[in-house]
Amino acid sequence: MGVFEVFTDYNHEQVVFCQDKVSGLKAIIAIHSTALGPSLGGTRMWQYANDDEALVDALRLSKGMTYKAAVAGLNLGGGKAVIIGNSATQKNELLFRTFGKFVEGLAGRYITAEDVGTSVRDMEYVRMETTYVTGISQTLGGSGDPSPVTGYGVYVGMKACANEMWGNDSLKNKKIVVQGAGKVASYLCEHLDSESAEIYVCDINEDRIKELASRVKVNVINPEEVYEIEADIFSPNALGAIINDETIDRIKAPIIAGGANNQLKDEKKHGKILMDKGVLYAPDYVINAGGLINVANELEGYIRDRALAQAESIYSVLKNIFKTSKEENIPTFEASNKIAEDRIKNISGLNRIYSGKSEFSGKFNHFFRR
Ligand code: NAD
Repeated sequence: MGVFEVFTDYNHEQVVFCQDKVSGLKAIIAIHSTALGPSLGGTRMWQYANDDEALVDALRLSKGMTYKAAVAGLNLGGGKAVIIGNSATQKNELLFRTFGKFVEGLAGRYITAEDVGTSVRDMEYVRMETTYVTGISQTLGGSGDPSPVTGYGVYVGMKACANEMWGNDSLKNKKIVVQGAGKVASYLCEHLDSESAEIYVCDINEDRIKELASRVKVNVINPEEVYEIEADIFSPNALGAIINDETIDRIKAPIIAGGANNQLKDEKKHGKILMDKGVLYAPDYVINAGGLINVANELEGYIRDRALAQAESIYSVLKNIFKTSKEENIPTFEASNKIAEDRIKNISGLNRIYSGKSEFSGKFNHFFRR
């Protein structure tokens, strides 16, 4: 397939292939859209089977970031980078500083962050070569772990779902099944507990479940039981693709609202089945946008309270998605994609291209639409 055919399929603005023999760096930076602002998305380090697989991953993930930022009301575009390599054995300072130089070369059209296979520490090396990196540690003036804001956003999003389903925001005494007891789930459970929800939680890691149960009032269940429990809300916060042919009829809750990425194995098919069954599905990239809102905040000088306040917008964004979904009789994920596309079209006019450094300076307070 010709290079531009691949671009055209995903409608990307720019794809950069980076190679440096001395450090061993092989990376792809995909900038899907800068129509709303500089593209932002993490750097994934993964041992891909081949270069094509790495390219497709970068294209797919960066496109997803465009939609996520647009629907969250951020004035940011979508980008993503992949470093081809083994994150357990091939990471070092030189590799990430070299990568940072490539990011710097894009003059702000792409802002990076950590992702699967990379860490806050790695981003600190990137930061030595470029300011176009976010999600660095609090000790260096960054925003640190985004999970508290992600967890809060999921909680707020659940309230929007409750309001839509029952006409009332309250989660008091609602039976909520939480899959995963990791970072996002733990913060979520704290909020749910403070509102006296009835929480059922599982994890395959016993230490994590013990830690959570020592602090928060939860009922611990077996990971296999998770789909069988009659509940008000099912909240996936562990794995992707958990709504699939095998699980979709077993999930008993009328609401699915959780922080995990890529919950629908097949967006179109499983999104439609959920709609037909009358299950209210909060699109994952909308309800878990707190993490992105958090790192976007770092670009403006990080204030945790402001990030939390901005994450509250997830409530109205979801309500608007549910409204569009009802009015147009389309699944919620489709309604969300449509709202994102409309916003890009309306705000950016004729496919505006973000030109980098010259536009970047002095505009930090514009990353969030008020
Ligand atoms: P985490 O690694 O802290 O937590 C995930 C937990 O899921 C782990 O404790 C793991 O043991 C558990 N788990 C794995 N398989 C399981 C299974 N089959 N059943 C039950 N539990 C299982 O990760 P996290 O940061 O809390 O992220 C959770 C999800 O949210 C991921 O999909 C992530 O991509 C997504 N997400 C996270 C953030 C964030 O700010 N951390 C932002 C957006 C999206």
